Amino acid sequence: MKEFEVIIVGAGPAGGHCARLLAKAGHQVLLIEQHESFAINNFSSAASPLPILKQFDLPSKVVARYWHRLEIISSNVARQWQSNQNLGVVFDFQKLREFLAEDTVNYGGEVWLGHRYIKHIQAADRSMIVHLKPKHGETMQVKTRLIVDATGYSRAVMYANKQERPDFYKATGIEYLIKVSPEQYHKYADSLIFFLGYKWSPRGYSWIFPMDNHQLKIGSAWINAPHQIIKETQPLRQYTESIIKDYMQLAHYDLVEIHGSILEYSSGLQDVYYRNGIVAIGDAVSTVNFLGGEGIRHGMQGAEIAVKYIDNFLKDNSKDTLKDRSSNPSNKENVSVFSKYQQEIQMYFADKWNLSEQIGKKVYLEYSDARIDQGVSYLKYFTTEDMIDILFYYNFRKVSRGIKRAFLQKLDRLISWIMGGLRFGDRNQF
Ligand SMILES: Cc1cc2nc3c(=O)[nH]c(=O)nc-3n(C[C@H](O)[C@H](O)[C@H](O)COP(=O)(O)OP(=O)(O)OC[C@H]3O[C@@H](n4cnc5c(N)ncnc54)[C@H](O)[C@@H]3O)c2cc1C
Repeated sequence: MKEFEVIIVGAGPAGGHCARLLAKAGHQVLLIEQHESFAINNFSSAASPLPILKQFDLPSKVVARYWHRLEIISSNVARQWQSNQNLGVVFDFQKLREFLAEDTVNYGGEVWLGHRYIKHIQAADRSMIVHLKPKHGETMQVKTRLIVDATGYSRAVMYANKQERPDFYKATGIEYLIKVSPEQYHKYADSLIFFLGYKWSPRGYSWIFPMDNHQLKIGSAWINAPHQIIKETQPLRQYTESIIKDYMQLAHYDLVEIHGSILEYSSGLQDVYYRNGIVAIGDAVSTVNFLGGEGIRHGMQGAEIAVKYIDNFLKDNSKDTLKDRSSNPSNKENVSVFSKYQQEIQMYFADKWNLSEQIGKKVYLEYSDARIDQGVSYLKYFTTEDMIDILFYYNFRKVSRGIKRAFLQKLDRLISWIMGGLRFGDRNQF
């Protein structure tokens, strides 16, 4: 039976980055992914602000398009911001995940595509025997010290039975990848366009993002929970189609692919981060932001935090044989190593994530269409820089540091708009 120090299950951005860093640190790493190719399950719109490239040492070959304009459109209002410099990227999600897997191999790790995690059992020596099902072939077993659950919303390792799973907020997203004429492409090639409001996207938001080769990503996502005012909606995909037909007025385009996925978010970040030799990262511990649905950067950041603790754990035990460990490092000690991981993640994310959750619930599940129009109209007071801070850094505090009076006034209007029901203490978090 093959043995690895650590097995990472799921080769999304969080799992791929985690595997790459652990392999670089010299550990024996196996990264497994249930799909045989990264072209499958290519679900993410994959937009990010520009610093992500440097922050995670990503090459430009994984970028499909750079953007330098932002637009927000509600039922009756539209606002636009731009810069003469690139503000962000839209990744080719397939290439991004391929690159992380390739880098894992470059650093000496192994990557097995088309291998599905089925279950694991604790061996007598406290190592774990992991059962994998290759796409073509019989179930096989590998031995490891630690399993990383990077399976995204499915949390397939942490929760062996669906019944054990606590309640999550669930959101569904669908996206059309289309190819358009050069003239049409030119209109959208440099912008991230977001749609809010009842007309374009009740209970969530829709978008148009540019890709390369005259392709555009047009999608819609919503929270699967009742809205206080809207009682009936159309099927989700009809909102995406309405953007293509009614907003873009495209008579002709090639539909390259329709894809989508689910996000499941734990209210108040109550996920299980570590249990009996399993550490969870990425969407499996709700690093995706509830308000923006942005999760690539945050999943990779969470993976970096986890890697510090995993590296220490593996180094601490490197002299032990797997057999020795049965009498040596107790599971209790490991729990305390990884409880620090949980604390660090929660310190990093909790404030902003809890506030984003509260704002998201208000905007997506409570506000009237007129109120959403009003909020979008207030955004005219903000500069491009302000908008990047608000949309991508959820960072009202950072924005307000050393701030000019004028900005505080702008901010106050926006806060009053968002408030309508947030408790006073929440307001102080801005
Ligand atoms: C429609 C949509 C649009 C989005 N747009 C953006 C965006 O513009 N920007 C952004 O930053 N984020 C976006 N996100 C969110 C972002 O894509 C996720 O937060 C991110 O992909 C999470 O990374 P992850 O590695 O934690 O999980 P995932 O990317 O979900 O990866 C999990 C992997 O685990 C594999 N897996 C699952 N179960 C098993 C098993 N049993 N065995 C083996 N492998 C398994 C899956 O196949 C998958 O490859 C979007 C999400 C959706 C749904």
